[in-house]
Amino acid sequence: MKILVTGGAGFIGSAVIRHIIENTSDLVINLDKLTYAGNLESLKSIDNNRRYAFEQADICNREELDRIFKKYQPDAVMHLAAESHVDRSITGPAEFIQTNIVGTYNLLEAAREYWNTLDLDAKQAFRFHHISTDEVYGDLPHPDEQGENTTGKELPLFTEQTAYAPSSPYSASKASSDHLVRAWLRTYGFPTIITNCSNNYGPYHFPEKLIPLVILNALEGKKLPIYGKGDQIRDWLYVEDHARALYKVVTEGKVGETYNIGGHNEKQNIEVVKTICSILNELVPKKSSYAEQITFVNDRPGHDRRYAIDASKMSDELNWRPVETFETGLRKTVQWYLNNQTWCKNVQDGSYKRERLGELSTQVEGE
Ligand code: NAD
Repeated sequence: MKILVTGGAGFIGSAVIRHIIENTSDLVINLDKLTYAGNLESLKSIDNNRRYAFEQADICNREELDRIFKKYQPDAVMHLAAESHVDRSITGPAEFIQTNIVGTYNLLEAAREYWNTLDLDAKQAFRFHHISTDEVYGDLPHPDEQGENTTGKELPLFTEQTAYAPSSPYSASKASSDHLVRAWLRTYGFPTIITNCSNNYGPYHFPEKLIPLVILNALEGKKLPIYGKGDQIRDWLYVEDHARALYKVVTEGKVGETYNIGGHNEKQNIEVVKTICSILNELVPKKSSYAEQITFVNDRPGHDRRYAIDASKMSDELNWRPVETFETGLRKTVQWYLNNQTWCKNVQDGSYKRERLGELSTQVEGE
C-alpha cells in the first residue's frame, strides 16, 4: 500500500510512520507543515528509507494537496495533522479552527476529488482514516462524585455510541472535524473510518504535555506543576500501541465505522507525576526526592475530570490489545528522555520555554 500520512512529523504521526516502515513493506508519504510540534528529527531512524518520502505542506493549502495526491496516488490517507494542545487552544483558538476544521475540510475535498478519478477497484479499496480523540465525548463521572447509593458501582466508559459533548476549543474543533468526516461518508459515499483515542505517552512527545514536561522539569530541578488538585483521571496508552492499532484499523477496519482506542490505564494526574518521580529517584538519584518539586497551580479552565475508554470493539473485531502496561510504558518513556537529551534540546529551540499556557487573565489564584 501507499499511505499518505498527514502530521507525520508529530508525536503520534512519527510513531505511525516508524511502525509502518519498520514492520511492513508499505510506502509512506509524510505531509506535514512542520509547526512548532513537528520535528523531522523524530524520523531520523527511517528517513533514508526508499519507501519513505516527505512533503512540507499545509493542509489548508488546497493547491498543494492536489499536487501531492496527483504526484503520489495514495491508496489510503491517515489524517493526524492537527493543533493538539488544549492549553494552547484556550490561549489562541484561531489556529485550531483553521487547521483542525478548515484543514480537514480541505483534505476531505482534495482526497474526494482524487478518489473520483480512480477506477472501481481502487475506489473501493481506498480508505480515509481520520485520527481523533476521546476528548470529543466531554468528561465522565469521577469516583469523587459517587454518592452513597452509587459507591462500588462500576463507572461508565466512553463507547462508540457516547454522545459528543466537547469542553475545550481543541476538543470542539476535533469534534467538528469528526462530523465533517461522517458527513462525507454519508453524503458522498466517501470511504472513511474514524478512531477516537485516549491520552498517549511515550518517546518523541513534545515537552509541553504533562509526562515529558514533568520528566524534564524534574531533571532540571524545576517545579512540577499540578493543575488543581491533580485528581483528573486520564486513560493512558503507550504511543507504539496506538500506532499498531491505527495500522490495524486502516488495513482491516470497516468503512463507516468508528473505533475507540484506549489503554485500560485510568490514572489520576498526581499519581502519574508521583510515579515519574519514583522512577527518577531510582534511575537518577539525588539527595532529596523529586516529589518535593511538586507544586499545585490554578486548574485549567473547563478542565475535564475523567476520561476512560471501552476498547472492546478494537479487541473483539480487530484483535488489538495494548502490549505495554502503564508501569512498563512509563519506565521506557523516562529512560528514553534520559537517553535523548539532544532531541529534547533541539525541539525546544523555538520560543516555547515550558511556561504555563491556557490561563485566563480573569482567573484569580486558587480559582
Ligand atoms: P502533535 O501536535 O504532536 O503533531 C501534530 C503534527 O501536525 C505536527 O507534526 C504538525 O507540524 C502537524 N501540523 C499541524 N498543523 C498542520 C497543518 N495545518 N498542515 C499540515 N501539518 C500540520 O500531535 P499528536 O499528539 O501527534 O496528535 C496527532 C493526532 O492524534 C491529532 O489529530 C490529535 O488530535 C490526535 N490525538 C492525540 C492524542 C494524544 O494524546 N496526543 C490522543 C488522541 C488523539
